[in-house]
Amino acid sequence: MRFLDSLSKRQRRTFVRIVIALAIFAVVALLPLDSLLSQPYALWAEFVLFLIPYLIAGYDVLWKAARNIGHGQIFDENFLMSVATLGAFALVFFPDAEAHMAEGAAVMLFYQVGELFQDYAVGKSRKSIADMMDIAPEFATVMREGQQQEVDPYDVSVGETIVVKPGERVPLDGLILDGATQLDTAALTGESVPRTAKAGDRINSGCINLTGAITVQVEKPYSESTVQRILELVENASEKKARTESFITRFARYYTPIVVGIAAALAILPPLVLGQSWSDWIERGLIFLVVSCPCALVISVPLTFFGGIGAASKVGILVKGSNYLEVLSQVDTVVFDKTGTLTNGTFNVVAIHANEGVSPSDVLQFAAHAEAFSNHPIALSVREAYQGAIDESIVSQVQEQSGKGVRAMVEERLVLVGNHALMEQEQVPFQACELAGTVLHVALDGAYLGHIVIADVLKGDARQAVLQLQSAGVKRTVMLTGDRAEVAEAVAAEVGINQTFAELLPEHKVQQVESLLAAQLPGAKLAFVGDGINDAPVLTRADVGIAMGAMGSDAAIEAADVVLMDDRPSHIATAITLARKTMRIAWQNIIFALGVKIAILILAAVGIATMWLAVFGDVGVCVLAILNAMRALRVKQVHKG
Ligand code: ADP
Ligand code: MG
Repeated sequence: MRFLDSLSKRQRRTFVRIVIALAIFAVVALLPLDSLLSQPYALWAEFVLFLIPYLIAGYDVLWKAARNIGHGQIFDENFLMSVATLGAFALVFFPDAEAHMAEGAAVMLFYQVGELFQDYAVGKSRKSIADMMDIAPEFATVMREGQQQEVDPYDVSVGETIVVKPGERVPLDGLILDGATQLDTAALTGESVPRTAKAGDRINSGCINLTGAITVQVEKPYSESTVQRILELVENASEKKARTESFITRFARYYTPIVVGIAAALAILPPLVLGQSWSDWIERGLIFLVVSCPCALVISVPLTFFGGIGAASKVGILVKGSNYLEVLSQVDTVVFDKTGTLTNGTFNVVAIHANEGVSPSDVLQFAAHAEAFSNHPIALSVREAYQGAIDESIVSQVQEQSGKGVRAMVEERLVLVGNHALMEQEQVPFQACELAGTVLHVALDGAYLGHIVIADVLKGDARQAVLQLQSAGVKRTVMLTGDRAEVAEAVAAEVGINQTFAELLPEHKVQQVESLLAAQLPGAKLAFVGDGINDAPVLTRADVGIAMGAMGSDAAIEAADVVLMDDRPSHIATAITLARKTMRIAWQNIIFALGVKIAILILAAVGIATMWLAVFGDVGVCVLAILNAMRALRVKQVHKG
């Protein structure tokens, strides 16, 4: 039996116990005791016989209840079940009462079936997330003194060379020195199409090398690798709880004692005050006790959020806590950073306009040297365009001015590379450029050398991302950028963004987001999406900060609440859709469970509900709610070309 195999040893023992108890229960229920024995012997025989399956199924519940009372934890579900079932058996001592031994045994049996199922379901979702998160490499093959050596990835230092053979998991982040291969990145990004990688490409730990052997120069210690970062994010995610989730926990703390209190009042007051039959009202009180168990809520709601986070990470969206799922589901404004978020951040040089008497190659050479130490996408592209070697030893006193450019000494001469704001600040007269594109002005010792015009490429799914957000019900899309207004307008028009704010310094981006936040309708949330280069403060300021994880800076991944592992802006809409689905399931469970329980409580109070209905109200609702919660874990795998 596949089902039995999937159970743990402990679960299998409980399962066998329940089956045996159920079989005995069925035999006892079918015995024609009334015709075999005369009263009251038939009744006592029934009592003793039902006690057997009851104890087989529930001895551990009784034991836990007794132990927990010793610890002062009275209102736990073991206690409630014990009192309710023992009470049902005890009704036999009331001469005018009907026998309820069968119900007592049945409540315990079904309660145990429900517990087993719950244990199984929770274990299964944990396992499926753990499987997906099974991205940790077991070893790294490092080259030392010309020999390959298998070592713990923790023992490899930055700068060492490792070999990754086909079929192996890439153990560390680095740069491919040699070889070409296909990589399976599904564990990191959910992307099912293999990616090609060759010498000169960067590679992330956690992917699986499919076809060719490669040698990789390690660029980060294992503790800072992609694998470690993902594992940490997912492990910490359960600590940040959604408001809905903590509301349920708090609610359960009050719900149970209140219902137990009413149960006691129901059982005692009417007989005592109005002289009604004890057995009748005790039975109603017992039904209350069975229904007072909040397990359908306290298990299913956290399980739903857990499933939602798991589903998101399956497609490469890391959500740092269920509170962010809740916020994401309410997002109506999405604010984008331009460079690196909507665009690739790899600029091509469109033109170099040199001043009279200056050669274009000098302009590029000074620019590339001044940018030698910058991580800005512009700097990387300028260095790429300048094909010569960069002598870092002649560059000193580098000052990077966020949103403006860089200022550096190159061979004892002051070089400025940046936009018009930088030139104005340094009082260098410059020439405007009529070409569309980002313009990098270059000045040497206060004299203008000319400018380099560069253009960025839109990400393939940028337009689709905005369209999907609109169809997901996001009302407003905004773009913030430090780039020129012309470039900003052109990009916005192409991707269909509603509103743009250009030529912003990083601090202005924060102010802009703050004023957008102030204008939000109550309950509507604002998401900011950035790559973290110059915008980490904005990521923290927004209701929910979404960062590009693959190329984004470490600061962004730290500051963000949600990380998109494959940098695709279209995943923002996916994240919002998943978040809404999770919230929907959580609320379905809350309303369903409370609705059924309240209905049964009312029916029990007026004497219509039976113990059997109460069992459904507890165990049945719990099982249904868990089944519903498990839907949150399901997600369509994305297929991208
Ligand atoms: P975005 O808001 O589009 O992400 P940034 O805030 O990072 O852009 O940069 C805004 C502008 O500042 C750039 O368009 C560029 O003109 C200038 N700039 C920033 N960093 C640099 C740099 N390292 N070199 C040259 N120019 C830079
Ligand atoms: Mg940026």
